[in-house]
Amino acid sequence: MSAIDDLPPLREVIAAHELRARKSLGQNFILDLNLTAKIARQAGDLAGSDVLEIGPGPGGLTRGLLAEGARRVLAVEKDARCLPALADIAAAYRGRLEVVEGDALALDLAARLNAPVRIVANLPYNVGTELLTRWLDPPEWPPFWTSLTLMFQREVARRIVAQPGSKAYGRLAILSQWRSEPCIVMEVPPDAFTPAPKVWSSVVHLRRLDEPRFPADAATLSRLTAAAFGQRRKMLRSSLRGISPDIEGHLRASGIAPTDRAEDVPLEPFCTLARALAAERGA
Ligand code: SAM
Repeated sequence: MSAIDDLPPLREVIAAHELRARKSLGQNFILDLNLTAKIARQAGDLAGSDVLEIGPGPGGLTRGLLAEGARRVLAVEKDARCLPALADIAAAYRGRLEVVEGDALALDLAARLNAPVRIVANLPYNVGTELLTRWLDPPEWPPFWTSLTLMFQREVARRIVAQPGSKAYGRLAILSQWRSEPCIVMEVPPDAFTPAPKVWSSVVHLRRLDEPRFPADAATLSRLTAAAFGQRRKMLRSSLRGISPDIEGHLRASGIAPTDRAEDVPLEPFCTLARALAAERGA
């Protein structure tokens, strides 16, 4: 295994700083630096980009991002035990790594980054979907980031790229595919992590669309898909009954049969229906 930098191997870093993984923080570390460099490469051209990394831990992916040429990495870590190991990386890559201690769910770091911004993370499983949803649903579009390259449990990754007619198709697919171009770029086996999780993981790359794929009001689309997929086995004329007095008329005008189920309806008709509902409300 070839070294990607002059810093010690991650097993030594973990031993030196006594970084025993904590389940409560979703800590499954990747210790193979060739693998972390490969994940970093999935994010595209890092040389001209600022990278926001969530959960650097002992810094395996951080080192991959820096070795692959990221202009600058801003890394947010909740576990203070990791800070000395990250300080060693910052010293080795002078001026290119800034570490912030804190909870990524509570911090707004957009103002501290310069465009183009790429978000890259081996996400803690307990906060991954919440962060993705926030990044895809900000108050203003386009958002501060250009692409997201994120490790998820494989089942979550499949929900992001799912197509109509599959069990995995739901709100996460609609939101992701409405505002970005998502694709699974790597499958990672459990034994790539320490400790090994029970399930496979996948790296998903989401390229932001400057305009959503079809026009629609974000809040209306969200309300609509919450109602539709909240009772996904029901026919839409029944699951959406509370949404409009003329839901059957709106469904038909949007090209959706009132007897269809949410999981069979593609993104575009959902957006057409959201526009009709917003117009009805005068939004
Ligand atoms: N990036 C490292 C790697 O690839 O080996 C560690 C990945 S580990 C799956 C997730 C990391 O996220 C841990 O270091 C954990 O402490 C950190 N973390 C967990 N919750 C967090 C939060 N809310 N905000 C920031 N970091 C968090």
